[in-house]
Amino acid sequence: MAIKAVFFDMDGVLYDSMPIHAKSWVATFAAEGISFEPKDAYINEGRTGSSTINTVYNRLFGHDATDEDVKRIYGRKTQIVDTFPPAPKMKGMAELITWLRNNNIQTFVVTGSRQPSLVNKLGHDFGFDVDHIISGADVKRGKPDPEPYLIAVERAKVSAADCVVVENAPLGIRASKAADIFTIAVNTGDLEDSYLLNEGADILLGSTEELSEAWRNGELKIES
Ligand code: MG
Repeated sequence: MAIKAVFFDMDGVLYDSMPIHAKSWVATFAAEGISFEPKDAYINEGRTGSSTINTVYNRLFGHDATDEDVKRIYGRKTQIVDTFPPAPKMKGMAELITWLRNNNIQTFVVTGSRQPSLVNKLGHDFGFDVDHIISGADVKRGKPDPEPYLIAVERAKVSAADCVVVENAPLGIRASKAADIFTIAVNTGDLEDSYLLNEGADILLGSTEELSEAWRNGELKIES
């Protein structure tokens, strides 16, 4: 396989941000009188904010949240996230991204997040320009639908068979596999490996550091 493009998920892959998101979701739903465990945040990771809220509403009330509900709940969640210091970068990823670019491999970020500060941050920390970021603002359905990864394939102007995805979340892996892309899972969260393997991850590693070193040393077996 000649790899032409690599698509990186953001939370839990480029930034150690999932503990912040999990705490923020738990506190946000608690304020609504809704029980939501940290594990629920990891299971739903990858969804857009509105999709997470609708998933909870459908489970509890059997219908989607209204636009007002979504605005109120997601607004509060964003406010709580902003009270935390910025999440640190995941180890080894800046080095891996630079190495891929030096090897003429395109790199993109594919995230369900849509914070306005995203583009500046990804540019400053990892050298991504706006054309190489597919965010929650670019999609209608978002993960676990293959849509965001199909948009990435289109932007890269290559075939899905020549792409690789790096994901940490079950629903992100589901989206990637539904787009027919070779998928590397890194288990950087709180879920057992089986959650990631059951969605069809082709390779599983325990940390981004391990992934970065193995890839740059030619020790990863990537075959579509
Ligand atoms: Mg993630």
